[in-house]
Amino acid sequence: QGTIIVQVRAAILGEEYILLLADDRTEITRTERIRNDFVANVSHELKTPVGAISLLAEALEASPDDEDAVRRFAQRMRKESSRLAALVQDIIELSRLQGADIVHQGKVVDVNEVVAEAVDRSRLAAEAKNISVVVGGTSAHKVFGDPDLLVNAFRNLIDNAIRYSPGNTKVGIGIRDRDGLVSVSVADQGEGLKPEDQERVFERFYRVDAARSRQTGGTGLGLSIVKHVVENHGGEVTVWSQLGRGSTFTVRLPEMEEDQGAEGSPPADQ
Ligand code: ADP
Repeated sequence: QGTIIVQVRAAILGEEYILLLADDRTEITRTERIRNDFVANVSHELKTPVGAISLLAEALEASPDDEDAVRRFAQRMRKESSRLAALVQDIIELSRLQGADIVHQGKVVDVNEVVAEAVDRSRLAAEAKNISVVVGGTSAHKVFGDPDLLVNAFRNLIDNAIRYSPGNTKVGIGIRDRDGLVSVSVADQGEGLKPEDQERVFERFYRVDAARSRQTGGTGLGLSIVKHVVENHGGEVTVWSQLGRGSTFTVRLPEMEEDQGAEGSPPADQ
């Protein structure tokens, strides 16, 4: 019935209206397709560790007296469970981001502090591969936003830099400001990315090497979370990379003026 009314109105209002309507429908179909793809991907990704845990439990039941096998199966169960936990956490984070209202719920955030917190949380992963994470350029830079989301975004970039680099290398983090934007770049000396992969790494569940990502605890959602967080803050994230030489991911966020900080209000253009 709704469609008939729209069609009658469209006939009255003329061609332009019909075209707008057609555009709208294309947009709805696109959004629906993205959502359906996401649900399909999530189900697939969840089924893999759940299936593995169930098989391993069966194997444990079948050989309770074989100490060696029990230990091996239990270890693998633990690994699959952590994968499941990471995946569930990232999915929750993504859905939390859909409803995030940075403009009304944000506050003044010191970029150096959130970066330092993110580095701290990645410390264990860095130590395990003897990778040194060095932060440069630490004059005070303030942005308006949600500190927890920002820490999580930077942590994802630093974790990736560590995950996709060989041991005994360096990860350099540079904080700068230019033209009213604070930029934070995370540069690694890792495996790098081909140009065609650089275009796609921010897509949900896109991985260059799925087996490698899974093995190292990746969920395939990290960079899409980063992109979401940064765009919610009115910023952008870009990548520069050369295969075999390393990658640099750069986040740019609108910087707060000194006097904006006093009232704790969002930047004027938000
Ligand atoms: P994952 O959980 O698999 O790391 P992400 O969304 O964080 O998922 O990243 C998507 C893919 O981009 C990764 O699987 C990896 O192939 C590639 N990637 C991300 N960061 C880097 C990096 N610093 N160096 C090389 N490749 C990277």
